[in-house]
Amino acid sequence: MSEVSANFSGTTPTVPEMPRDATPSLTDTLLRPLRDLRISVTDRCNLRCTYCMPRAAFGNNHAFLPRAELLSFEEIGRLAGLFIPLGVQKIRLTGGEPLLRRGIERLVEMLAGLRTTQGQPVEIAMTTNGVLLAGKAQALKDAGLSRITVSLDSLTEATFHRIIGADVPVQTVLEGIAAAQRAGFAPIKVNMVVQRGVNDHEIMPMAEHFRAEHFHNGGIVLRFIEYMDVGSSNGWRIDEVVTARQILEQIANHHPIRPVDPAYPGEVAERWRYADGGGEIGVIAAITRAFCHTCSRARLSTDGKLYTCLFATRGADLRTPLRQGAPDHALTGLIASHWRQRGDRYSQLRHAAAETASAPKIEMSYIGG
Ligand code: SAM
Ligand code: SF4
Ligand code: SF4
Repeated sequence: MSEVSANFSGTTPTVPEMPRDATPSLTDTLLRPLRDLRISVTDRCNLRCTYCMPRAAFGNNHAFLPRAELLSFEEIGRLAGLFIPLGVQKIRLTGGEPLLRRGIERLVEMLAGLRTTQGQPVEIAMTTNGVLLAGKAQALKDAGLSRITVSLDSLTEATFHRIIGADVPVQTVLEGIAAAQRAGFAPIKVNMVVQRGVNDHEIMPMAEHFRAEHFHNGGIVLRFIEYMDVGSSNGWRIDEVVTARQILEQIANHHPIRPVDPAYPGEVAERWRYADGGGEIGVIAAITRAFCHTCSRARLSTDGKLYTCLFATRGADLRTPLRQGAPDHALTGLIASHWRQRGDRYSQLRHAAAETASAPKIEMSYIGG
């Protein structure tokens, strides 16, 4: 075992304490602050990934939300602005496929003007499947998008098509990533959900591809995500999960890697760097190393419900009071009281929950991945 692969023993980098300075007053029942807001801008998608929106459940007749139920950009902008004084420093636009929402760069532009309580620009990020990215990357950059994450689970056409349930070439997504690089996004994160028997044979090809990319262009971080039991339609089974440890061991067998400290408290990915300068990778061990204890994320669904956990079964309706003309302080009060009551730690309780669960879980495309 090399010096560096010996360094990989499942130990994780040190997690810094939650800062005690900003908005100390708003914490949940487990003393977690509210720092991140994920906004699902549409529940629709141009793909049908088997682990998220399988065709059997999201077929041609699937009833997506009618347009009138979606929050408008103005409504999203107003609500997002109310989350900031409560501690939010980062907003991620997601879905569904956010690039399907017409004029999404206008929303980015509206949000890019927000400032944190410390006067810093609020970071505006987006997660996309990359299919429409080539034509949008520059407009998103110009509108003020700070960061972009592209999902890509395979470089092999057959595997890719099997996973995404559609006939889009891998090259389309790679061109989207290249366009984002040209537009100046750096680093770009690439998310790969790893499923045993589906794409686990692609861990090394993906790692090698983005290492090579790093040596040529720099600035791409490949992140391996443990397949999660989100929603009720993907038929998740624990034996399909390839653990972060197994993924890292496989990579360390080919290239020595070293742990990197988290960039900020509550960062969900554990970061690693190739010892030879081949860039950085990350693992998101949502199943085997639950990170609920530092989870500071709230989610705003496409139709304006506030969820405090990816696995929550009920959200607080913000759209009704918003449309009935509630003043800012009333809406802020609703958000704050919902956060104060939060005790979610689904992933830490997963095994117990699985035995008792009966309520169907909310789909990720609606709540925002
Ligand atoms: N459509 C966009 C995309 O695919 O990037 C944004 C929404 S998608 C729900 C957000 C992220 O969730 C993607 O990176 C996707 O791979 C991930 N995801 C969806 N279902 C998942 C599951 N069951 N387990 C792990 N990650 C999942
Ligand atoms: Fe669509 Fe993203 Fe879900 Fe795939 S993971 S079906 S691209 S929302
Ligand atoms: Fe956060 Fe819920 Fe995921 Fe735990 S299970 S990390 S509380 S979203």
